[in-house]
Amino acid sequence: MPELLEVIELGNPILRQKAQPVQDVQSERIQTLVENLLITVKEANGVGIAAPQVAQSDRLFIVASRPNLRYPNAPMMEPTAIINPRLLAHADETVTGWEGCLSIPGIRGKVPRYRAIEVEYTGRDGKLHKQELTDFVARIFQHELDHLDGIVFVDRIDSTQDLSTEREYQRLFPG
Ligand code: ZN
Repeated sequence: MPELLEVIELGNPILRQKAQPVQDVQSERIQTLVENLLITVKEANGVGIAAPQVAQSDRLFIVASRPNLRYPNAPMMEPTAIINPRLLAHADETVTGWEGCLSIPGIRGKVPRYRAIEVEYTGRDGKLHKQELTDFVARIFQHELDHLDGIVFVDRIDSTQDLSTEREYQRLFPG
């Protein structure tokens, strides 16, 4: 049975480590981790979660964009496991948008990201995928990829003026 995992928070040194490549996608450990991340991100109203956020230093994350309480305008997509991802190319254009993080509860920040990216990753079936992503889904991908390199969104903001508490953010953008 899949189980909800504890999400670790900023200050835990595991979040600052560089995660290790997944060697065997089909292993029971990795397949179980994917299952557990899928239900954990859903329960937490997230749109993505990376293995280091549950204290597993593996190059693996979930992108699961869907409208929810924390992101009412997120586009709908099938939750996808992204294993050993690589950023192949990106547009010059960056866009600044609000992000939050399950590991930094109560804080939102305006973060610049590439608007369009070309990526390669292994799916949970072990197959290699190559894809172009844009806008919000590209933003999630870049946020989660950063987690695999020990980077969190507050490292990417231009100024601390671009931070907001969750409560003030909800006042700015009432759902
Ligand atoms: Zn995060």
